[in-house]
Amino acid sequence: MGKGTQAKLLAEQYGIPHYSTGDMLRAAVAAHTPVGRKAKSFMDAGHLVPDDVMIDIIRETLATPEAAHGFIFDGFPRTVPQAEALTEMFHKMGIAEYLVIKFNVDDEEIVRRLSGRLMCPNDGKIFNGEMENVTAGGPCPACGTKLFQRDDDSAATVRARLAVYNAKTAPVLGYYEQRGVVVTVDGTEPIDAVNRQIAELVHSPKKN
Ligand code: AMP
Repeated sequence: MGKGTQAKLLAEQYGIPHYSTGDMLRAAVAAHTPVGRKAKSFMDAGHLVPDDVMIDIIRETLATPEAAHGFIFDGFPRTVPQAEALTEMFHKMGIAEYLVIKFNVDDEEIVRRLSGRLMCPNDGKIFNGEMENVTAGGPCPACGTKLFQRDDDSAATVRARLAVYNAKTAPVLGYYEQRGVVVTVDGTEPIDAVNRQIAELVHSPKKN
């Protein structure tokens, strides 16, 4: 896991924008926009937000000038119809080169990591409850603000998210494997080791 952490690192290293659809949706929910009002109940249940909403968000995002020189998607596309819509957009924009990064992590490890994840509402830092000896409602080690668990990180919702992943998102991998653009990293390694694995794959002349 840690797709968000890795995506942010890569965006910094390559000087290109990082588009996390989860972050965009959480911002829309917090701001009570029409998209946010539509998305909230799906997100809280660990379900996917409908494809038409997501495809519109990405179409608007890719139309901005900052997207003209490359970008990193984090959490998109999550269904085959989203992938098909993206292929169509790339075709119109003349984008022919891209990579899909697959993180190998087993399901139990994902449940353990996400359900132990705590966030600080003040500085946005993420902590691992078990490893960093912090608890929900306890103080942030950096600033003292009370830590909380993301609504969709409870163990039950994480299991629902995994079921959705297996049903809707796993087929996206097949879609891109057919196109020969998938590279795989071992997501259980420490942050900097995963970052190095990705950098090597991005620079390797033969991508698979
Ligand atoms: P994330 O932060 O990537 O884990 O996303 C959090 C939640 O936002 C997901 O569980 C979905 O409910 C929703 N979401 C994010 N990206 C997508 C997407 N591409 N398609 C549908 N729902 C999404």
